[in-house]
Amino acid sequence: MNLPVILVVDDDPQVLAAIRRDLKAHYRENYRVLTASSGESALDVLKELKTRGGALALLISDQRMPSMLGVELLARCREIYPIAGRVLLTAYSDVKAAIRGINEAHLDHYLEKPWDPPEEHLFPVVDDLLASWQSAYRPELTGLKLLGHQWSAPSHEMKTFLAGNLIPYRWLDVQRDAEALVLMKAAGVSLHELPVLLLEDGTVLRNPDKRQVAESLGLTTSATRDLYDLIIVGAGPAGLAAAVYGASEGMRTLLLDGHGPGGQAAASTRIENYLGFPAGVSGTELTRRALAQAQRLGAEFLVPVSVSGLCVDQGYKRVVLKDGRELLTRAVLAATGMTYREHSADGIAACNGAGVYYGAAGTEAFSCRGGRVIVVGGGNSAGQSAVYLSRFASEVHIVVRRSGLEETMSHYLIHQIAALSNIQIRPRMVVDRVEGDGRLERIWLRSLDTDSVVVEKADAAFVFIGTRPHSDWLPPTVLRNAKGFVLTGHDATYSEAFTRIWKEDRDPLPLETTVAGVFAAGDLRAGAMNRVASAVGEGAMAVRLVSEYLART
Ligand SMILES: Cc1cc2nc3c(=O)[nH]c(=O)nc-3n(C[C@H](O)[C@H](O)[C@H](O)COP(=O)(O)OP(=O)(O)OC[C@H]3O[C@@H](n4cnc5c(N)ncnc54)[C@H](O)[C@@H]3O)c2cc1C
Repeated sequence: MNLPVILVVDDDPQVLAAIRRDLKAHYRENYRVLTASSGESALDVLKELKTRGGALALLISDQRMPSMLGVELLARCREIYPIAGRVLLTAYSDVKAAIRGINEAHLDHYLEKPWDPPEEHLFPVVDDLLASWQSAYRPELTGLKLLGHQWSAPSHEMKTFLAGNLIPYRWLDVQRDAEALVLMKAAGVSLHELPVLLLEDGTVLRNPDKRQVAESLGLTTSATRDLYDLIIVGAGPAGLAAAVYGASEGMRTLLLDGHGPGGQAAASTRIENYLGFPAGVSGTELTRRALAQAQRLGAEFLVPVSVSGLCVDQGYKRVVLKDGRELLTRAVLAATGMTYREHSADGIAACNGAGVYYGAAGTEAFSCRGGRVIVVGGGNSAGQSAVYLSRFASEVHIVVRRSGLEETMSHYLIHQIAALSNIQIRPRMVVDRVEGDGRLERIWLRSLDTDSVVVEKADAAFVFIGTRPHSDWLPPTVLRNAKGFVLTGHDATYSEAFTRIWKEDRDPLPLETTVAGVFAAGDLRAGAMNRVASAVGEGAMAVRLVSEYLART
């Protein structure tokens, strides 16, 4: 039987036998539990497994072993099985080493010995890690296949749509993968029909739009009710949190998103500062859990559904969708966040999706293998992406206007970047122009100190500069600040136009906009903290306020 493997490594035969016994008792039906007594023999097992096409789901290794420490083994395992869960087994006295391992080798978890009772200390951790692995894992030869050109905007868009909706797929570049041409021929697809999706049941979707893909893959695109208590527009952290709380409080709750769940957070390769995840958590994983939780509690989720307008009619709100459909609700939560501003360098628009990407490090990192990559921007999102890209690219250059990263990036990221020899910071520089034949190839960097320009080779550029809110779908009666971020609560009352627009005999509730019953949370709001935790907090808080509003109407 070709079951995925859980490998346990410990040089102490008693500990090894005990953990093997517990794991086998619980996971035997779905996983093969293998053991090794040293780091070297574990690496041999992994290489052998790889050669035979086997899958590693989880590696649990003791830290103190004579010739190879557990953290080293776990770091080396990542080169062979990048998505397998990796857990360090430690004694209480080694916890500091474990935390260092989490930071430096990006481990998933550490387990303290002894783990009794396993139902409390072992199985919940292993269950979680196996669920994460299952959602990312896809057997080599089955599943959804996407065929396209690496340097094509529609292919890039389809990749981000599938990844954004947590749909595992296999990407085949028609210029690099011989198998892509074989599959194209078999499906009778010609080059001008790319990108093409090949579904497991044999369906061929030629250059499909997102809605067609969503429907073919079983995503929900239509609402089931005529009236909702709460419609949440935007399924980033704020919207997802609101959906969890709205549904759990018994509100008829509908969540929708134009792209996929998770928002900006889904683009984060590793969120290190979200409470309760000492080893950090990827944006995809946090999103997967949050969406499952919201849906389990009864929230409906529609995707890809973009909202283009909002009308208020006798207290009822009509949410107008881009395709002309309308949805009726008693209250609305605007949680549409923000996005990166497009860079204005000469030639950059022509390379959009063809070497130039906005916040898409996770989706395109693999195609940067061995390449020279430019990251533009000095914030945390740029830093996180640079660290992630450095695992694939041979060189990563961070281009920033300031003289360093200290004022704009968190200390932990600056520290990680300093430890990576293939990342270089390019202070006081700006991108003036980009060029290439159908894709990004060269980049013009200008020094802000000397005005001199250097032209350098670039295989990809990831842009993380300035932000703009997604607030244009809201009516003008929802007041905003000069940059377009939505005013809420007491802050809104200071606006000159407030008394002209607000006709209620009460002040707006906190997080309520200048239209009664329309609330805003997360990065869309003027004064937002731009953090996952604050967006989640506001989403939860908004539901409490929506309930207060509904009780009055
Ligand atoms: C790469 C990256 C790394 C980050 N790392 C961290 C980190 O480590 N820690 C941290 O605390 N924060 C981090 N952040 C910031 C954090 O992700 C954001 O503050 C947070 O996601 C804001 O959540 P939100 O729900 O308000 O909005 P968003 O996350 O922006 O979500 C808004 C959602 O609304 C949808 N939408 C927009 N317009 C429409 C429309 N008209 N119709 C339908 N749907 C629409 C979008 O598709 C999107 O899904 C990071 C951000 C990025 C980009």
